[in-house]
Amino acid sequence: MLQRRKFLQLSSLGLGAFSFSGFTKDKTATRKPIVISTWDAGIAANAAAWKVLGKGGRALDAVEQGVMVTEASQNCCVGLGANPDRDGFVTLDSCIMDENANCGSVAFLERIKHPVSVARRVMEKTPHVMLVGSGAQQFAVEEGFTLEPQKLSDDAKKSYEQWLKKSEYKPMINIENTNKKQTAFVPTKFDNGEWNHDTIGMVAMDAAGNLSGSCTTSGMGFKMRGRLGDSPIIGAGLFVDNEVGAATATGQGEDVIRICGSHLVVELMRQGLSPENACKKAVERIIKIKGAKAKEIQVGFIAINKQGEYGGYCIQKGFNFAVCYADDKNFMVDGKYII
Ligand code: ASP
Repeated sequence: MLQRRKFLQLSSLGLGAFSFSGFTKDKTATRKPIVISTWDAGIAANAAAWKVLGKGGRALDAVEQGVMVTEASQNCCVGLGANPDRDGFVTLDSCIMDENANCGSVAFLERIKHPVSVARRVMEKTPHVMLVGSGAQQFAVEEGFTLEPQKLSDDAKKSYEQWLKKSEYKPMINIENTNKKQTAFVPTKFDNGEWNHDTIGMVAMDAAGNLSGSCTTSGMGFKMRGRLGDSPIIGAGLFVDNEVGAATATGQGEDVIRICGSHLVVELMRQGLSPENACKKAVERIIKIKGAKAKEIQVGFIAINKQGEYGGYCIQKGFNFAVCYADDKNFMVDGKYII
């Protein structure tokens, strides 16, 4: 990405500190619209979200359309092209939340290209928050979503075949190769060919000052069949409070659920913490619970507040997120880390 290259050049000249520290220079001004999202795929997703936000559109539409780009990518770690569960099936989880605390979620959803849009329909067309498994799929089909073929992408097939050799059931640490020079989004893989992360979380504030968020994932690669992580769970993988701010999570979902991670980040911002410090405190809480085992996992949080300040924090080096607040400002930020 051109913008990313420019940003990297500025950083190497020591001129990028403003971007790394977030919007902290003038506490009275509000930066809006703004959208942030997890990992490198966030650049393309933010660009799609910005098409909505830049024209004065609603944050809810932006966070749906943004992550749909990632879901549609067959060459990615999110959506139907992603890694399957250990039985060889891709199962998708997603949620969405708006400025009025309306929320919708789908989990363990198979053969549907855009789980985030199904989550939005759950929010808008049912009295419920969450639909799962065959019920979620049935609802999606009734709503006119196409049932896609049950077929692994070429990349996922290769990864799965590789994984089957050992069939070792062990959670992976999510690490983005931030040193690699990238001119377009290329999902980073481990040496053994496995994707290193499986989620995009996005939070945005529109020109009217309203907040929304979305989160969508294929979940942990080669997970047990039926396993859900944090991503479709309101309060864990995503939380929005229009009075305060919005947060989303990525990484080891079980440990995000344990602390109601995204809700915690928003509540810490309510107490006056900046987005970055709120994310840091949430990460510290996980580290306290996990003790020495914290170094075996990765969790990253990102957040924005009503002033349009943004921030992120993770357990260990290797997490990054994309920030966009103007036509020519869509850039990666390396998450600060504790271990
Ligand atoms: N949080 C997701 C999960 O646990 C995985 C990820 O963020 O990579 O399902």
